[in-house]
Amino acid sequence: MTSEFDLIRRHFERAPKHALVGVGDDCALLRPDAGLELAVTTDMLVEGRHFSAGAEPRALGHKALAVNLSDLAAMGAAPRWVLLAIGIPSADEKWLKAFAAGFFALASRYGVDLVGGDTTRSPKRTITVTAMGEVPSSVALYRAGARPGDDIWVSGELGGAALALQRPKIAAQFPEIAKRLHQPEPRVELGERLRGTANAAIDVSDGIAGDIGHILERSRVGAVIEYARIPRSPAFRKLKKPDLERDCVLSGGDDYELVFTAATARRADLEALSRELGLALTRIGTIRSGEPKLTLLDAKGQAMKFKPAFDHFRK
Ligand code: ADP
Ligand code: MG
Repeated sequence: MTSEFDLIRRHFERAPKHALVGVGDDCALLRPDAGLELAVTTDMLVEGRHFSAGAEPRALGHKALAVNLSDLAAMGAAPRWVLLAIGIPSADEKWLKAFAAGFFALASRYGVDLVGGDTTRSPKRTITVTAMGEVPSSVALYRAGARPGDDIWVSGELGGAALALQRPKIAAQFPEIAKRLHQPEPRVELGERLRGTANAAIDVSDGIAGDIGHILERSRVGAVIEYARIPRSPAFRKLKKPDLERDCVLSGGDDYELVFTAATARRADLEALSRELGLALTRIGTIRSGEPKLTLLDAKGQAMKFKPAFDHFRK
């Protein structure tokens, strides 16, 4: 008979590199570097809601961690420690092994220690990761930091994950969008490098229109964005479905790119950073003073309508 503790030991216990105590005691014991601030975040993935029962466990292990590292990146924090609380219907060793392989492959790329968690039986799988990262004093990237006149930038390209979710048949033809949905790349290096350069940042988890809306609300500013400038998955070019494209690019979630604002004086720095990281950074609009409203312009300079971002509880 496999016990809960055997499962934990076999699949989740690894010697931590940056903790006094990791898995195995009542608590993990951490020693943050003096003078640094600790950024803490948690994200839950629920079977039937965020992933299907047949979802590939290795990809799921990656994604459960990736969505949390993305939140740390959006704060400008360097990821250090994570906790993993997992509910599973049975001790499916094959599933756990693959899940752990995906989880640790990403964790080790960034030197992140899994320092604890909880393991319980539950009717459906649920995966909750809590992540902690360090950021030097006073340089964390707040949603509230955008200023009138700032450029609005976005990393990478948008819409691919939503397209893969909404049109599985299309995803089968474009492996790169399926990968974006199931194994998103958190923009960890970019987040750290934006310290001191960006004024505000957020990660695109629910669709860029809604996510920029959070920056506008918190910063008490407005924004104008040109739709045509928003970088999008190349899959749309071959698809030629403009309505689907607009919904995926503006209101589709799960891209995990960073949207940030920066003074115009930072343009050259950001272009150099883009080349250095080999990651597209695109200027898509401007922060304006006034109501926290996003104005989206089409190619003719007319205001466009867009769907609101996904909300678990909106009726
Ligand atoms: P407690 O009863 O004190 O909460 P548990 O029996 O739940 O402790 O867990 C034993 C140890 O294993 C603890 O260090 C806990 O953090 C760790 N742990 C449990 N589940 C996981 C998991 N899924 N991933 C990593 N560590 C885990
Ligand atoms: Mg416990």
